[in-house]
Amino acid sequence: MFRYETHCHTKEASRCGKLSGADVARMYKDLGYDGIFITDHFFNGSSAVDPSLPWEEKVAVYLSGFENAKAEGEKIGLDVFLGIEFWFYATEFLVYGPDRAFLLANPDLDRLDMRELLTRCREQGYFCVHAHPFRQRGYIKTLRLYPDLTDAVETLNAAHPETDHFVFDRRAQAYADSYGLPFTGGSDCHVPDQRWMGGILCEERIACWQDYAAAVKTRRVAPFREPHDRTKPMKFD
Ligand SMILES: [Zn+2]
Ligand SMILES: [Zn+2]
Repeated sequence: MFRYETHCHTKEASRCGKLSGADVARMYKDLGYDGIFITDHFFNGSSAVDPSLPWEEKVAVYLSGFENAKAEGEKIGLDVFLGIEFWFYATEFLVYGPDRAFLLANPDLDRLDMRELLTRCREQGYFCVHAHPFRQRGYIKTLRLYPDLTDAVETLNAAHPETDHFVFDRRAQAYADSYGLPFTGGSDCHVPDQRWMGGILCEERIACWQDYAAAVKTRRVAPFREPHDRTKPMKFD
């Protein structure tokens, strides 16, 4: 079985991220993952990118976390892929497929509402996953669902607390099942010592985002969550 992270953050691009792209790659390699998707928050979310920069420069800073992770991954033997966590009033979607060319050609992506954004991404054939649709925290007051524009649901988010037996995840699973939507899992990791880590197990190697999308849509992935051994010291620069 191959182990993949589908949802994690770097400090180069995410304001809430505590690990550089290179550190993220080393941590996941150390934890036995075969590959990871870097999914930093977009400019209108919890972004570390200076909003006063011109669009091209914002895109360059945004992609630097992914690029640093990818460069380190090539050195240590970890596949690193790109995704984007888009934001609309705290409703978030993980979109797999956008690249530098798409970002440069669409300088209004941070001003679209979620329906417009998902429509545009799906026109490109991108894979749109509703991240933690039933998470409720101080910053999430309203839950929004877009079942007609959702390719898959994140029914396991390892950043959620155990309280109530992971009730946010159980509600997400009930939502996915109710609409017949496929599902996936991720850690949503921002820090070196998150209590639980997760992702997906897959029988086949994933070589690109299209492989990941196909594996989820044909239900050949198994979301997993496991305690993170925080007693093990991590080596960071
Ligand atoms: Zn974050
Ligand atoms: Zn996230």
